[in-house]
Amino acid sequence: MADDAATPVGGLRVGSILGFEIRIDLSWFVILFLVFWSLSVAVFPNQLPQLSRGTHLVMGTAGTLLFFASLLIHELSHALVSRSKGIPVAGITLFIFGGMAWATREPDRPEDEILIAGVGPVTSLVLAVLFQLIAWSSTSLGLGTPIETVASYLAFINLALAIFNMIPGFPLDGGRVFRAAVWKATGDKAKATRWAVGGGRAFGLLLIVLGAIQALAGAPLGGLWLVFIGWFLRNLAGASLQQQLLHDLLAGFVAADLMSPQPEVVSSRLSLEDLVQDHFMRLRFGSYPVMDGGDLVGMISLEDVKKMSVEERRSGRVAHAMTPLHECAVIAPSTTVESALQQMNRPRAGGRALVVDQGRLVGIISASDVSGWIHRLRAVEGLVGRTT
Ligand SMILES: [Zn+2]
Repeated sequence: MADDAATPVGGLRVGSILGFEIRIDLSWFVILFLVFWSLSVAVFPNQLPQLSRGTHLVMGTAGTLLFFASLLIHELSHALVSRSKGIPVAGITLFIFGGMAWATREPDRPEDEILIAGVGPVTSLVLAVLFQLIAWSSTSLGLGTPIETVASYLAFINLALAIFNMIPGFPLDGGRVFRAAVWKATGDKAKATRWAVGGGRAFGLLLIVLGAIQALAGAPLGGLWLVFIGWFLRNLAGASLQQQLLHDLLAGFVAADLMSPQPEVVSSRLSLEDLVQDHFMRLRFGSYPVMDGGDLVGMISLEDVKKMSVEERRSGRVAHAMTPLHECAVIAPSTTVESALQQMNRPRAGGRALVVDQGRLVGIISASDVSGWIHRLRAVEGLVGRTT
């Protein structure tokens, strides 16, 4: 899979490969254990009952590690092509249903989307062929039956991954390629998304029905797993559609359209006691840009003040508690709303952005500005023109 969301889901950071941060969601350990357990206790012992339990465990370990290496290579292929098309990838997360490469934005051209999404199944297919070649040549190379069996399994699982991902249901890779093809043919991205999301929802439903039949036919675990994946896909498709509708609604608007202009500012030398008394308790704003003389130096929010100790709050000044400018989200009035939202959602930005025009503070955007503005936008939809 490849995803457009800007913020990677949480998870443990395990390192980085080719400049992409690799994270592991806790749910991944469940699937890791299930794969290892089913390979070592069921799959390999059934195929090669004459081998020892120790050999089965070694085969299970190798099969599990190479399976997840294959998944990672699949995601890396998305990330590499995305980066080569000028769309940076924030990181790769492995979780219970596989992996996600988190692109920082959507491709502008359907051709790019086709390449970015299409490379995933192609990579899995290439891996399947490579593992099958190893399996076929293992006898002549004298590698032995255990290696042949593990390689055959990996060829099978990569082929399955390629086929699963080629299904034309958004947000699977095939769904993205399908969407891009419709987008290219009709020039209507929103319509293409609706079609591809429809495909994703239909496929999710199909998995749920198949899973239920399988469960009733006497394979409850495998059946429930299919139901679970189908339900997950349907949810993901619905979320993608919401995201796309929001994207369409916001398209064409810029920071200047929704910022609160000429915001109240405070001095970096103001005491924190006065800040709380004269600003947070009297005015409705949750944060203030901080000025030092005529220069913008940061932003201070109630949360910043709460982080200080009682003693620091009594004697400290705004300069000590504020978020310094280099950690704030600073945007131009012409920044698109989507890009503004992405920057506001960065960890240290605190859900706010300072709007600066040629070094001069001209506005501030907070999460409540955005939600209020979207609310008004929906209310007057069809009555106002867009700025572009
Ligand atoms: Zn993929």
